[in-house]
This record gives sequence, C-alpha cells and structure tokens, in this order.
Amino acid sequence: WIAPLSLALAAGAGAMLCYLYVSAVNRLNDGVSKGVLDLIGNTPLIRIASLSEETGCEILAKAEMLNPGGSVKDRVALQIVREALREGRLQPGSLITEGTAGSTGVSLAMVAAALGCRCSIIMPDDAAVEKANMIHAYGATVQRVRPVSIVHPDHPVNVARRIAASTPGALFADQFENEANYRAHLKTGEEIWRQTRGRVQAFVSGAGTGGTIAGVSVSLKARNPRVKVFLIDPPGSSLFNKVKRGVMYTYEEAEGKRLRNPFDTITEGIGINRLTANFGKAVIDDAFRGTDREAVEMAQFLLRNEGLWVGSSAAMNCVGAVKAARALGPGHVVVTLLCDGGHRHLSKFHNPEYLAQMGLTPLSKGRELGFVA
Ligand code: PMP
Repeated sequence: WIAPLSLALAAGAGAMLCYLYVSAVNRLNDGVSKGVLDLIGNTPLIRIASLSEETGCEILAKAEMLNPGGSVKDRVALQIVREALREGRLQPGSLITEGTAGSTGVSLAMVAAALGCRCSIIMPDDAAVEKANMIHAYGATVQRVRPVSIVHPDHPVNVARRIAASTPGALFADQFENEANYRAHLKTGEEIWRQTRGRVQAFVSGAGTGGTIAGVSVSLKARNPRVKVFLIDPPGSSLFNKVKRGVMYTYEEAEGKRLRNPFDTITEGIGINRLTANFGKAVIDDAFRGTDREAVEMAQFLLRNEGLWVGSSAAMNCVGAVKAARALGPGHVVVTLLCDGGHRHLSKFHNPEYLAQMGLTPLSKGRELGFVA
C-alpha cells in the first residue's frame, strides 16, 4: 500500500505546485498587457467641465490621443491589418501601403512593426512633418508628395494602391473604401454607450474617411434610435452640403468664394470632397460648419481651462460639440472624440508663427466661440 500512497502524495504535491505556479504567473500578469496592440481602444471618456458650464449640457470627449500610437487611427489600422491577416490577404513579413494625411500612417507603421510586417506610407507634403518623422521612426518608409486631387495619379491614395499592386503579397490598407475602418468604430460606439450607461443623447464628429462617424452612428442608433448624430465640417469640405442638401459641393463654392487650394483648412484629417464607402454607412441627422478660427480658439481654450492639449480635428470636434449642445438646448449629454493630441501639431496648428502667417492668431479667450469672456 506504500507505493500507491506515495504516488498519490506525489501527485497531490505536483498539483499543488502547478496551482502555485499558475497563480503566481497570473498575479505577475495582473495589469500587464501582452503588447502594445492590446492597449488600443477602451479609451477614457473625459468630462469637459468648461464646455459643459458654457453650454449647460454635459460635454464628454473620448481621449483617443491615449491610444499607443497617439490617435484614434490605431483602432482602424489594427482592424484593417487583423482582418487581412485572418482572411489570408496579408502574411507576416509582407508590405502594407497606405495614402494618408498622416495619422493612419503612424498607426499602420506601429501595427506593422508590432506584427513584423513592412510598411510604406504616402502622404501630402503639407501635412505636419511630425507625423512623417513618427512613421519613419517606426521603421516604415514615408514618401511626401505634392497635394493633388484624387483624380490625379500622384494622389497619395493612387500611389499607395500602385505600389501594393506591383509588390507581391502587399496589402493596400485603403482606409477610405475598406469597411474594416467602419467596423473598428462599431466598438468605439459600444464603448461610448457603456461609458455613459446609455445616457448619450448626441454624438458629434468631423469626417475624413467617414469611418468614425459611420461606425459610431450605426452602433449608437442600434442601441437607441433617438441618439442624434451631427457632422462638423471644416472649410473646403463638401460633406456639409451633402448632409444638408444632398449635393457634393463645398459651401465656399456654393457662396462663389475662391479657395487658396481645394482643401482650404488647417484641420488635418477631416474634410473631403468625395463620397467614400465608409462615409456612405453613416447615419447623420444634421451638420454644422466650423471655421479654422473657431478650431484654433477652441484649442487655446481647452489648453488654458482644462490642461487639455488636443490636435486640430479634436478641437474642431469640440467646436461641433458646443454647436450641437446649443442646438439641442441645456441638459443634454453630448459626446465627441479627441482624435489626437497637440504634440504632433507643433509645427503647424500649435505654432504661433504659422497661425500668424495664416491670419489665425487667437484674438480672444473664447469670444469667437460665443463664450462669456
Ligand atoms: N482626425 C484625425 C487626426 C484623422 O487623422 C482623421 C482621419 N483622417 C480624422 C480625424 C477623421 O476620422 P475618419 O477618417 O474616421 O472620418
């Protein structure tokens, strides 16, 4: 009987050791992420006290600058790459290409580095140089091209598509037409719903590819059809007229104004003059126009009153949140997105000399926005 007993004791001791090992490992892993990609999404929702006080609404903003690549586009890059890997359209080690104002390029470069892929980004040379430097730092190649219209073969999107087509195994991420972009933001909407415990009454956003406003609008309206979705559109973009009048032309064109260039705004990443597959999915109730001056003043206001350092599209989104709050009246819960932080805008949107050159030096502490001085 001694042999079975010692066998049982040894097995018991072994099981105990196993248990101790697993629980020690679990304790060690508590709060430890498996890698940088695990940190994408689930961003905090910040109550913006000053804007809430100004409007009598509760203005909440999702802190997308806290994604590891520094912008909302991390969500999209990860979704595009994961779907392509799952469907066998991309293999580890292969090339990912994209044409982008920059943020998606930074995010794709990060995701590619984390997953062992190569990455080649084409961006217009008038976008902030910080983004090109970041893409380069992640080990991707970056080509800056003269800003041209989408029908031109040298448009970043067309260059990126061509490189992918001529490189075996390469993936053209195609954020404008690839609906993985919109699918990434179904989760953003789900997070907003959960974080507000279903109290959200309005969502406001600018649109570049349209992925954000599409995914979030579909996700929120599926949970509560009464949630209102508003577009905030910068100068030079045609989406305001698309929402208001069903036609695609810029309001400057409609008013007979001459533009310095087709995309006459300093807000990088939002505004577009073509209909994309992702924007086509959006369910939008109404639209507002925002000026560059309002965005600049909002950015300064948030810096001084909240210690919040946001990029140009995030500032424009907050302009939109204020316009939505005023349209709805006091007492509403209005949510928007802080797409990225100010760091990557130091050479332009947060550069006083550049703003002076553009005639956009802030004149007041919120007067442009109609705030009480
Ligand atoms: N803000 C920034 C900084 C961006 O790069 C983009 C995307 N181009 C947007 C906002 C707009 O988001 P979406 O493409 O989902 O419309």
